[in-house]
This record gives sequence, C-alpha cells and structure tokens, in this order.
Amino acid sequence: MRCATVRCRVESRAHTRAARSQVAADLGRLLGQDRVLRSGIEPYLRDATESRGLRGAADAVVLPRSAEEVATTVAWCYEREVPIVPRGGGTGFAGGAVPVGGGVVVSLERMARARSVEPLLWRMEVEAGMTTAAVHRLARENGLAFPPDPGAAESSQIGGNVATNAGGPHAFKYGVTGAWVTGLEAVVAPGEVIRAGGAMRKDVAAYDLKSLLIGSEGTLGIITAVWLRLIPAPEASYPLIGFYPTVERGCEAIERVFGSGTVPAALEYLDGGTLTAARHGFPAELPAGAAFAVIVEADGTEAEARASRTLLEAALEDADVLHAPTDPHDVDALWSWRHGVSLAVTARRGGKVSEDIAVPVESLGTAIAETLEIGRRHGLESLSWGHAGDGNLHSSFLLTPGDGEQLRRAEQAAAELFELAVRLGGSVSGEHGLGLVKNGQLVRQIGPLGASLHEGIKALFDPKGLFNPGKKLA
Ligand SMILES: Cc1cc2nc3c(=O)[nH]c(=O)nc-3n(C[C@H](O)[C@H](O)[C@H](O)COP(=O)(O)OP(=O)(O)OC[C@H]3O[C@@H](n4cnc5c(N)ncnc54)[C@H](O)[C@@H]3O)c2cc1C
Repeated sequence: MRCATVRCRVESRAHTRAARSQVAADLGRLLGQDRVLRSGIEPYLRDATESRGLRGAADAVVLPRSAEEVATTVAWCYEREVPIVPRGGGTGFAGGAVPVGGGVVVSLERMARARSVEPLLWRMEVEAGMTTAAVHRLARENGLAFPPDPGAAESSQIGGNVATNAGGPHAFKYGVTGAWVTGLEAVVAPGEVIRAGGAMRKDVAAYDLKSLLIGSEGTLGIITAVWLRLIPAPEASYPLIGFYPTVERGCEAIERVFGSGTVPAALEYLDGGTLTAARHGFPAELPAGAAFAVIVEADGTEAEARASRTLLEAALEDADVLHAPTDPHDVDALWSWRHGVSLAVTARRGGKVSEDIAVPVESLGTAIAETLEIGRRHGLESLSWGHAGDGNLHSSFLLTPGDGEQLRRAEQAAAELFELAVRLGGSVSGEHGLGLVKNGQLVRQIGPLGASLHEGIKALFDPKGLFNPGKKLA
C-alpha cells in the first residue's frame, strides 16, 4: 500500500500561487526559460473527459526537447518529491493526463521528430510526441502502413497511444498499438534514460519491461521514443456497412462474419441510439428505422480484398440495406464518419460518461442490451457502439454538462457497467485505460493478488509514487 500512502501525501500538498511560480522559475533556470510555459497552461489541465468536469492544477508545465531534458526534469522532481504527469495529446478518455495531484506536467509535443525511417526494413524510430496521424502519413509516404488507428489521430501522440495501448477499428485484424512496438526509450526514476527492446523484431532474453511500460498510463515513467514495426500498405480496402432492424439480427451477422472464412480488417457495430446521434454526417442515405449497423472491411492486394469482400457480403446478406463504397474517396468518407461518432454522441447533449468495457465476443449482444437497461434504471439516455470483433463497447450515458445530479447517476451507471464486464468474463477497459476515472476498478477484474503484484511493480519503478499519482492503481 506504499503507493497509496505516498499519493495521499502528494495530493495534500499545498498549491499556493507562490509555490507554483517557484517551481516554474526553478525549472526555467534549470532547463531554459523557453522550456517552461508561462501562460496558456489551461489546456494542459484537462483532457477529453472535460465534459465530466475533470480538471487539475499544475505547479508547472514543461515542454522538453530531448530525452535528456525529460530526465533532468524527472530528477529535479524526484529529489523534491514533486509529482510528475506525463502528457501526450490530451485526448484520453480516462483523465490520465489531468494533473489532479498538482505537480509538473511534462508535455512531449516538442519531441515529434522521426529519428530513423527504414522503409526497406519496414520500421521507424520516432519520438513520443509525434502525432498518430503524422506516424500514419510517414508510413504511407514510404509505401507502408502503421495499422493502429485510434480515433483522435490528428491530436493524440504515439507516446500517448503506447502509454494507453490504444486500439481502434483495425485492431481487430492487426492488434492494438503495443503489437507494433519493438522497443522503447523511457525516462524512469530517479531520472534515468532506459531502453527496452529496439529495432530487433524478436527478443525473449529479458523480463518484458517494454510490455510493462506499454499501457502503464504514465505511472511507471515517461516514454520518450518508440521503435515501430510497419507493414506494406494494403493495396485495396473495401468497407461494407449493413443496417439491421434489431440488435439480435445484427449480432447474428457478426457471428456469421466469424464463420465467413476471411479475416476482416475491422468488425464494428453501432446501436440505434448511436445511429440517431451520428445520422447527419453519414456519407450516404442512412435508412430510417435502422436499429443496428455492422461495419466490416476487406483489405489486402486488390485480388485478396475483392475475394474477402465477396465472403463478407455473403455474411451480411440479410441486411436491410448494404452500403459498399469502393472509390477511395468514399471509403475515406465512411471512416471519417466512423471516427467522428464519439464527438457526435457527445454533441447530442453536450456531455457523456462513456466507458470502454470489453467482453468475450459471444456476450456482446448481452452487454449491448444491458447498457440500455442500466441507463433506463438510472434515468439516463444510453447507447453504445464499438469494436464488435474485439467485444469492445463504448457504452455511453448522455448528460448535460454541469448537471451534478446527472453526473452522479451516470457514474453509478458506469460502476454497474464495470460489474457487468467482470460478470461476463471481460475487462473494465478494452481501450482507454483506467486513468483517474477507473482508478480502483482493476481489483474487481484481477483480484487482490493481481492487485498486489501491480503495486509491487509500481513500487519497483517508482518508489516515491510520484509518476502520475492517483491514476490506474487505487
Ligand atoms: C474523438 C476520440 C476518439 C478516440 N478513439 C479512440 C480509439 O478508437 N481507440 C482508443 O484506444 N482510444 C481512442 N480515444 C482515446 C485517446 O485518443 C487514446 O487513449 C490515446 O491513445 C491518448 O493519447 P494522447 O496522446 O492524447 O494521450 P493523453 O490523453 O495525453 O494521455 C493519456 C495517458 O497516457 C499518459 N501518457 C501520454 N503520453 C505519455 C508518454 N509519452 N509517456 C508516458 N505516459 C504518457 C498520460 O499520463 C495519460 O495517463 C479517442 C479519443 C477521442 C477524443
């Protein structure tokens, strides 16, 4: 319980204006004045959970330009017991980058260079602050692909993707971000740069420190660079979206996709409430009365993609309406719409509590139905969409921002959702991590022994409990 004790101490630190400006002044002298933000720190105090009212307060916001500057910052903080909050693009849905315990926010945005791009070896090494979209573009310019595609790619950073082990629609065939990381560089306590893995594709020599840092949500150290594995870009991609009158019919189609004899690049669903919320941006005519939609995508060489599409069309053959774009522009329009669904759902009432539980795929229909039932019990409009093939739902309870009573009910509803996930043999987080909003939920899933192993790992990496206190672990 050492970490929890340290965290309490950290959270009870007084954050007077004078103390804050002293931290900023000291770090400015140490790193150079242009490395410390003097104004405009507001955006660094929140993330995409803002509509839930989550906001922190920082002693300073530091923008380092190198791993060495990150190490200097960490060493300074570690010596003085100042909390350290690593920050990527701030698109997280779990409050992970929100500095709730004060301290120094270390934002990686100025570390966005490619250190090496080796197209013939299908790999690159990039700094952690490069945006996800820039990683995609860099791979594409070299005829390659980096498949993980979380939805806020223009803003999220590869370091944040690694720290949350982000997924996205194409994780179904290609795996989540961690599957593409062969090595990483990180700054760990008390201010040292370490490397785990590297350019090599295989490495079974050591305990897997790389995988411990992947998904660690800034609680074990700060990722400063990553080696990424790439693949030749698929020649063709053909998505299909089928609309169904009921959840049951849609879930039957999802099961048929599993038996279709081909592996789709993506296998997604949207329920009726989500279709209503996202109706306006849909790039074709959205059928009235559709209560469920299934998206699949065939990809590969032109011949492979065509053959796969034929099999997927057969799996979705009983859809009321099937939209099957083939022109690259129309394909992009469909995926842009899909990536905007989360924002369209938020826009419906201005706010939402949206959780990302994952269940064994055969329980998807149950979890979709129970999301609606939980919402009804709490008097909240609820809906879900997500990565059907991975059994990963974005179960959402809509609310009016600033309405404390609705927020309280939505958080109770979310707690029931976590219970549901565990009861169905699933996970309290399939994508976004635990951060602040799910802090304390892990023990439900992994039990007390698993939790104490986690605390041991945390204490080994971070004996003073200063890396992102209050996040991930209770
Ligand atoms: C519209 C929208 C769509 C989204 N779609 C998806 C989706 O499809 N799949 C998905 O998985 N997520 C999705 N997300 C959530 C979010 O984009 C991901 O969790 C993303 O990986 C967060 O990256 P970030 O750079 O914004 O990190 P931040 O929000 O800044 O931080 C997230 C966590 O990572 C830590 N962190 C950040 N950078 C580092 C670093 N360099 N070293 C150590 N720790 C670090 C932070 O401390 C924090 O705990 C979506 C978000 C939005 C707003």
